[in-house]
Amino acid sequence: TLNVPDNPVIPFIEGDGVGKEIWKNAQSVIDKAIEKAYAGKRKIEWKEVLAGEKSFNENGSWLPEETMNAFREYLVGIKGPLTTPVGGGIRSLNVALRQDLDLYVCLRPVRWFKGVVSPIKTPEKVNMTIFRENTEDIYAGIEWMQGTPEAAKFLEFLQEEMGVKKVRFPETSSFGVKPVSVEGTERLVHAAIEYALVNNLPSVTIVHKGNIMKFTEGGFKNWGYDLAEREYGDKVFIWPQWEKIKNEQGEAEANAALKKAQSEGKIVVKDVIADAFLQNTLLKPAEYSVIATLNLNGDYVSDQLAAMVGGIGIAPGANINYKTGHAIFEATHGTAPDIAGKDTVNPSSLLLSAVMLLEYIGWNEAGELITNALEKLYGEGKATHDLARFMENGTSLSTSQFSQILAE
Ligand code: ATP
Ligand code: MG
Repeated sequence: TLNVPDNPVIPFIEGDGVGKEIWKNAQSVIDKAIEKAYAGKRKIEWKEVLAGEKSFNENGSWLPEETMNAFREYLVGIKGPLTTPVGGGIRSLNVALRQDLDLYVCLRPVRWFKGVVSPIKTPEKVNMTIFRENTEDIYAGIEWMQGTPEAAKFLEFLQEEMGVKKVRFPETSSFGVKPVSVEGTERLVHAAIEYALVNNLPSVTIVHKGNIMKFTEGGFKNWGYDLAEREYGDKVFIWPQWEKIKNEQGEAEANAALKKAQSEGKIVVKDVIADAFLQNTLLKPAEYSVIATLNLNGDYVSDQLAAMVGGIGIAPGANINYKTGHAIFEATHGTAPDIAGKDTVNPSSLLLSAVMLLEYIGWNEAGELITNALEKLYGEGKATHDLARFMENGTSLSTSQFSQILAE
């Protein structure tokens, strides 16, 4: 956790579309919880900073330098959804923020609230935390479009310089580059193992496609295991160890060693191929706890797991650099223009992100009050329309009604 004063300044971006509504409602719930938990001794000084459409309309800039400076200076911030500008050279405001602060972990906890309708049979067994690498992989944006001189040059480079002859790429090919580094892998896996240790969780699973992409996805897996062994040797049981014992002494011995390690409180570090993982999460979700994965896999995995517990209206997230402490907590859904201004949006995603923020600064008591209040409401079948409509005897509440009950 990050040490902060009792009155920390925390910058927030309200966000576009439904941002205004979720922020206004969430803020009152958060402030109430802090007041209750610490009897007025602690209080967040919220500082509004601008980004997105609201910013563009006020000062002509989608992402003012002032906003970046606030996040740099105050370390921790929170944000609603942002409209991505069309044209203007910015790919995405979210990406710009992540790159500027080098927020290398995209953290997505996934848990189920009783009462929320899930597409799977045993949602109570879903309790996972995804560590998605945020800066590398095919997401790095190194791409060349077919028909451009760059794509032609790259094709020539592959064939002439790199000796790639066995596959004939047609001239209509686009190309993308997938960089995966040892450093990038290590800081991500390090963060995942630390999280498992601090929170007493049973395992860290490396999710990858190393069977096909041996040096990138496979590198991620191997370097992850190397790091686990090198830095946490006495605190983890890594799967290659199980395999080694199995090969030398048989499966019974390997299982016995695993059992022993678990009884000593060691964290099991294992790996699974991404496609099998997606199946397994539906069939036996209890097998997984902390997940460490690359950028693209992480994207798919995050959405599937979120859907298993109620979808984007309720899934929180954060982008974090554990080395500098910089962290931006965020609603994971978009601006939802179709329901903006109607007082129907579900504020849970932003609220649970705020709970993550409170935990990050060590204010767990306040976070727990919010989580408990959400648990109670969902348990009673009370929810905003997006979730209430699937409940058998659900009560549909407006955003402000839902938030008012939470704040009480
Ligand atoms: P953007 O372009 O900003 O990504 P979008 O509409 O494409 O916006 P989302 O905002 O993620 O993408 O919305 C997808 C669907 O889910 C929409 O129908 C939206 O109304 C709904 N939705 C998203 N967030 C919520 C929420 N918090 N509560 C209720 N419904 C939501
Ligand atoms: Mg969208």
